Amino acid sequence: MKPAAFEYVRPKNLAEALTLLAEGQGDSKVKAGGQSLGPMLNMRLSRVNQLVDISLIPELKTVSDDSDTIIIGACITHASIEDGKIPDVTNGMMNSVAAGIAYRAIRNQGTIGGSLAHADPSADWVISLTAAGAEAVISGPNGERRVGLNQFMDSAFETKLDFDDILTAVRIPKFSKQARWGYYKFCRKTGDFAEAMSAVVIDPSRDYCRVVIGATDTHPVVITDAIDLLTSDEAIDACITKNALDLNPLSGQMHRTALRRCIKQVQSL
Ligand SMILES: Cc1cc2nc3c(=O)[nH]c(=O)nc-3n(C[C@H](O)[C@H](O)[C@H](O)COP(=O)(O)OP(=O)(O)OC[C@H]3O[C@@H](n4cnc5c(N)ncnc54)[C@H](O)[C@@H]3O)c2cc1C
Repeated sequence: MKPAAFEYVRPKNLAEALTLLAEGQGDSKVKAGGQSLGPMLNMRLSRVNQLVDISLIPELKTVSDDSDTIIIGACITHASIEDGKIPDVTNGMMNSVAAGIAYRAIRNQGTIGGSLAHADPSADWVISLTAAGAEAVISGPNGERRVGLNQFMDSAFETKLDFDDILTAVRIPKFSKQARWGYYKFCRKTGDFAEAMSAVVIDPSRDYCRVVIGATDTHPVVITDAIDLLTSDEAIDACITKNALDLNPLSGQMHRTALRRCIKQVQSL
């Protein structure tokens, strides 16, 4: 199928893009890499009057350093992270996660900001960066604000972004040398979206331990007091049941196994 007709605009900077969205009154939509939006428009699951292409806006393609945090522009592609073009502050976690997203053709165009904004519960950045303790930087008509990724998604495909907001960057805390991470997902085949997935980050220097479970029907399950999960299979079983992830026995078993295998990765380091 082909999309319904729309106007295509390519603003030169962030201010222009924000003005276009505000003027659109909800009938304009941001396009970043187009890897999720394109298929949705083609299948007419989404319709817009105007597509605001932000993929070439220079401000959204920068990377900066703020002492204990790295700030990655929203339009940095998955492939740039996979290829190590962005400084690695997560002891290899981000490069590894990027390399496991879809296929190379999608990674060449798809962006970190687009993935977060799209808010698919099975998206790799949503789960891994929530575990890392990252924040979304959002610009809107009232200026800039930050939202922790653990608060960013309200439910599947629903976020704290308003129609006239743009996610401009992601702030990722730098991991210490002692920090460890685990990431595990079940996919039917390489490149498919996950059916169960878990991420864990432990950073003793920040007294930080967070487990995140993804590929649920809604926002990710975030467990900040996760020490028990690292030491006890019973605690893992209880966590799956408490979060109603085993209502379907097969998917419950996949979530349980993904979580166990993810935690095993940090235990074996
Ligand atoms: C076949 C296939 C397999 C895939 N497999 C995986 C996978 O295994 N794991 C995975 O994580 N992802 C997967 N994806 C999704 C892929 O990673 C996309 O790149 C990503 O979800 C969207 O990024 P994008 O830059 O292409 O955003 P777009 O498609 O351009 O936009 C997606 C949505 O986000 C909004 N948006 C985009 N950028 C911004 C912004 N900066 N501010 C506000 N709103 C914004 C758009 O308006 C739109 O609603 C897959 C996609 C396909 C087609």
